[in-house]
Amino acid sequence: MNRSVKNLLGLLFLAALLGLAAAMASPFPLKMLLTQPGKVYDFVTADPPQHLAIVPVQGVASRQLVDTWGGARSGGRKHEGIDIFGPRNTPVLSATDGLVVSLSPNSLGGTVVWVLGPGRERHYYAHLESHAPSLAVGQWVEAGTVLGFVGDSGNARGTPPHLHYGIYRLGEGAVNPYDRLR
Ligand SMILES: [Zn+2]
Repeated sequence: MNRSVKNLLGLLFLAALLGLAAAMASPFPLKMLLTQPGKVYDFVTADPPQHLAIVPVQGVASRQLVDTWGGARSGGRKHEGIDIFGPRNTPVLSATDGLVVSLSPNSLGGTVVWVLGPGRERHYYAHLESHAPSLAVGQWVEAGTVLGFVGDSGNARGTPPHLHYGIYRLGEGAVNPYDRLR
């Protein structure tokens, strides 16, 4: 092997090592794909959970929940979720493991968190007072991880502080979280 080919292979090897190191330091999914490919596969292909053990407002028991699904809302909308009331700044917990996919505010929900959960469902946490300080898009969270804090942002401004929690199935739209939390 001549010297220039050897140098080229050496450079390629170094680049591959640097690329691997960068991938390992980055958040899910690249890092998890490399280190826990089985877990990522199971997560993506899983059936959606039919029971959620974590009520997403800390300190609220499942028996205290009220089914507010389907109630009339402004503009002819129907309520596509459950409202869970609690004192302002009560921690809001992720109901599932998952990937934080958006933290962008919107006019109805105000300060929100979207988590992609098991079985390709999206979990929506809205009307937050604030996000958990270090929360970032691309972050992996476990069931029970603090996502933010109860508030009245968005179109809930001035109402008693509560979490609006919604679950959206890929291709099917919203499903009622109440049945899964009971
Ligand atoms: Zn609501």
